[in-house]
Amino acid sequence: MNLQALIEDIRQQVLPFYDRGQVADYIPALASVSPHQFGFAIHTLDGQEYGCGESDVPFSIQSISKAFMLALTLQADGEALWRHVGKEPSGNPFNSLVQLEYEHGIPRNPFINAGALAVTDRAISHFGDAHLQLLAWLRNEAGNPRLAADEAIAASEREHGDRNAALAHFMKSYGNLDHPVETVLDHYFHNCSISMSCLELARAGLFLANHGASPQTGRQYLTRSQAKQVNAVMLTCGTYDAAGEFAYRVGLPVKSGVGGGLLAVIPGKMSIAVWSPQLDARGNSVLGLEALDRFTTRTGLSIF
Ligand code: GLN
Repeated sequence: MNLQALIEDIRQQVLPFYDRGQVADYIPALASVSPHQFGFAIHTLDGQEYGCGESDVPFSIQSISKAFMLALTLQADGEALWRHVGKEPSGNPFNSLVQLEYEHGIPRNPFINAGALAVTDRAISHFGDAHLQLLAWLRNEAGNPRLAADEAIAASEREHGDRNAALAHFMKSYGNLDHPVETVLDHYFHNCSISMSCLELARAGLFLANHGASPQTGRQYLTRSQAKQVNAVMLTCGTYDAAGEFAYRVGLPVKSGVGGGLLAVIPGKMSIAVWSPQLDARGNSVLGLEALDRFTTRTGLSIF
C-alpha cells in the first residue's frame, strides 16, 4: 500500500469540507489561526514517516495533551489514579459541569476537562512541575527540544477560564484536588497550549501503538496493560459526546483537541495525526474526522 499517495488523495477529497465548521473562539487567542489548513501525518512502527498538507505546521494541541498527561500520570500513580477519576464515557460536552455534583466531585473520565484537571493534580503530586514533566517527555519523543507552550494562548485560556476554574473549585470542595486551584489550572492551561505539528504528534504518540514502549527512544513508558487502558479510554471518551460516531466511522482510539488536532492509534502498526482548525458543534475537527474515516475505510485498518 502506498500510504503517501493515499493520504494525498484523501487530502484532495476532504478539502471541499472547508467552512462546514468553525474555528474555536471561546479561547480568543485560538480564533486567530488561519482556518483553511489541513495536515496529515503517519508514523509507522517500522520507522516510516508520511506527511502531506500542513503536516509540519505547529498548532495548539489543546486536549490532545490529556492523552499524554494520562499516560504520564498512570505510569506514576498506577491503579490509584482511578480513585480520583472514572473511565466511563460522559455523553456530555467536554466542559460540562452537570455530572460532577451527582458523582461527588469524581469526574467521569480523564478526557473531559474536569477529569484532566484531576489527573493534572495527581501529576503535580508526583512530579512537582507537571507541565515541565510533560514538555520534557514530548520534546524527547517528538525529537524537538524547542517544543513549548504558546504563552499568549495560555494567558488567553486563563483569562477566559471561568468554567474550568468552576470545575476545579467544585472538585476541591469534594476533596478531590490536593493542590491549589490556581496551580492546577496553570499547569493544565500550559499543557493545552503546547504547540506541535502533526509530524511531531504522530512521533510522540507512537508508544501508544507499540504497547507502551517508544520505538524512538526505546523506553518502556507504560506496561502493555496500561497502554491498552489508555487506548480504551481514548476510544470510548477521547472525542467526548462524539465518541460513538468516531468509533463507528473511524474505529480507532482517537484524542481530539479544540485546536483542530486529532491523534489516532492503530495498535501494532502506526500512529496518525490530523489537523484542521474548523470544528463541528462537538468540538472535533470536521476535516480531521472526514480524513480518518476515509483512511480506515480505504485501508481496512481499524481495531475492529
Ligand atoms: N483548553 C481547552 C479547555 O480547557 C481544551 C478543550 C479541548 O480541547 N476540548 O477548554
